[in-house]
Amino acid sequence: MTNPVMSIHLPVTALAGVGQALANRLAQLGVVRIFDLLMHLPRDYEDRSRIVPIGMVSHGMSVMVSGTVTWVEKNRTGLSVTLEDESGLLVLRFFKAYASLLGVMTVGAKITAFGEIKVSRYGVQMSHPEYHLTGTQQTQTGLLPIYPTVKGLHQNKLRQLVRLALQAVANDRIYSVPDAMLSAAGLRLSGDFLSALKQLHLPDRHADIFAQTELLSQLKDRSHPACRRLIVEELVAHQLSFLFRRNNVYRQKAPKCQANSALAKKLAGSLPFSLTQAQQRVIHQAVVDMTSSQPMLRLIQGDVGAGKTLVAAMVACHALDSGWQVAVMAPTEILAEQHLANFQKWFAPLGINVGWLAGKQTAKERTTALQAIADNQVQIVVGTHALFSDNVVFAKLGLVIIDEQHRFGVEQRLRLTDKSLMGSTPHQLTMTATPIPRTLAMSMYGDMDVSVIDELPPNRTPITTVTINRERRDEVIARIFDNCKAGKQAYWVCPLVEESTALDAQSAQLTYEDLVERLDIRIGLVHGKMKAVDKQAVMAEFKAGKIDLLVATTVIEVGVDVPNASLMVIENAERLGLSQLHQLRGRVGRGEAKSFCVLLYQAPLSPTGIERLNVLRDSSDGFVIAQKDLQLRGAGELLGKRQTGDMGYYLADIVRDEVLLEAAGKIAAQLIGTAEMMTTATAIMNTWLPQAQNYVNV
Ligand code: ADP
Ligand code: MG
Repeated sequence: MTNPVMSIHLPVTALAGVGQALANRLAQLGVVRIFDLLMHLPRDYEDRSRIVPIGMVSHGMSVMVSGTVTWVEKNRTGLSVTLEDESGLLVLRFFKAYASLLGVMTVGAKITAFGEIKVSRYGVQMSHPEYHLTGTQQTQTGLLPIYPTVKGLHQNKLRQLVRLALQAVANDRIYSVPDAMLSAAGLRLSGDFLSALKQLHLPDRHADIFAQTELLSQLKDRSHPACRRLIVEELVAHQLSFLFRRNNVYRQKAPKCQANSALAKKLAGSLPFSLTQAQQRVIHQAVVDMTSSQPMLRLIQGDVGAGKTLVAAMVACHALDSGWQVAVMAPTEILAEQHLANFQKWFAPLGINVGWLAGKQTAKERTTALQAIADNQVQIVVGTHALFSDNVVFAKLGLVIIDEQHRFGVEQRLRLTDKSLMGSTPHQLTMTATPIPRTLAMSMYGDMDVSVIDELPPNRTPITTVTINRERRDEVIARIFDNCKAGKQAYWVCPLVEESTALDAQSAQLTYEDLVERLDIRIGLVHGKMKAVDKQAVMAEFKAGKIDLLVATTVIEVGVDVPNASLMVIENAERLGLSQLHQLRGRVGRGEAKSFCVLLYQAPLSPTGIERLNVLRDSSDGFVIAQKDLQLRGAGELLGKRQTGDMGYYLADIVRDEVLLEAAGKIAAQLIGTAEMMTTATAIMNTWLPQAQNYVNV
């Protein structure tokens, strides 16, 4: 489809007066295209069009007041200036008493001040307001937007640029979701894309001050209809990209697999246990997909320890038996190595060759591995994302299995199956251990079918979780010592310093040294900065029972499986996400022994902090925990910043906008299901996600 080039997609440099220097500043705000500029919404608005009598102000209002200074007090915490008019008085608070400030704020001075009102037990205050001597400045009219900005980029410049951008796109043909569809989806929102934007950037001033305060708070917290209108639009665009993608994949031919697999029967027969009902059901769902000539797009969710790896192996059997290769990808080397060990253990006795491909191989090892993959000498290849670099050529790739999906970006995932080979597109099975609430799943995996392994293998012993103040760390150390002496194995998870593997490694190193000095037991250390071989060696020793206590950073979070380990201490538990803690904790409770998890926290904890840790103490259900995490910390925290950044929403917040998301799902399905709506559907997607064209052939 050929669209006339729309201004909205042009870089900001297309606007008059925007040179490279200004474009660079804007880029710091994430603003590259004119569209980005339009989506750069005000964080607040100022009403400088009227002076409000002090007696009428209330908490939270951003207002301009004018009066006479009646008292000035300088103290340790700054400067307090009492300002009075005929209707009342308030205190202007400044946190530093600059000379220039003291020069202006003298008793009897007539001052006009602008700022946000706070009402507390200290009375009515305005903190570090903007101010001038009354009569010395022209007051501006209307509501002024205040944008998030960076150093060197003035509010007035941003205001001017946004106005230019609005003018520039005025003649663009921008499609919006038809009003009729909005109301059919139960949303009472109207207007189109541009009029909504205008209301947000250049809102009309309301005559009534109280109505105006209400309006401003709606604009600020994004509950204003104009904002909700845009959010729906954005959510629909994302849902459309999933649906287009899905249709696109479904038009491709898949490697057909057989429903009956002798290999699967052999593998199941070789296990010392039987598959759970849930495992069987999920395997069946995936196998049904694979017998079709459409590529499978399926996500398997299952709590830690639910036995996802085995499900993947069983599903793989059906591809292998039909003569196809299987690629197994994990996000970290530790996890990939563990999969390698498992797949070798399961498949080598059955005569299936398992290959290995990771970033840290020597050139020679890599060449050999690539050759084996290309020659079909290996039927299963396990590895990290190195598996999907361009020079990896499979002889007959039939199935791609991706573990711990949430660590890969959405786009990265969508690009994966672009590698169509010999005219066929591999089936795709992804697994995630972060149980994702339904709405979140919808906004991340809208193109996939979802299976849930909702049952743990029967031999699991429940884990007792306790929360203990860090002041009692010595007692905990003593208990760990006693238990290790008695033949148990334990993990000691070190505090997360910040988002830095180097600092995490350092803190783990120090903890390790401290514990070695204090305890006469065998102690090991793993952290993210170690070489893969060294990590592997330590893990192997721990697994073999040659190490009693394993000091680790959160690298052990995913996948590690040592059934004899029954104790875990997690330091600074208050800093980790609930789902992450739940995953960590899932490393114990995998054997016969009664298992314990100790959450050490740094007092004092906020009420939410306490509530959070209690969720973990009281529940062992990953879904319940994830839901709580989502409520308490938001999606970014649940999935990691990068992940939600990758979701690429300008305005939508999938937790706050849950209701809109549901509606958007329906609208997208409706748009894509009607031939005459196709132009609208593609146009909406392209407005918001022009890069989607790279992986969506409409
Ligand atoms: P996860 O879903 O967290 O990836 P794993 O696949 O690592 O879980 O499985 C955890 C452990 O449970 C492994 O040791 C695995 O062999 C074992 N396991 C898997 N399925 C069963 C089952 N049906 N019965 C008993 N143990 C099982
Ligand atoms: Mg796993």
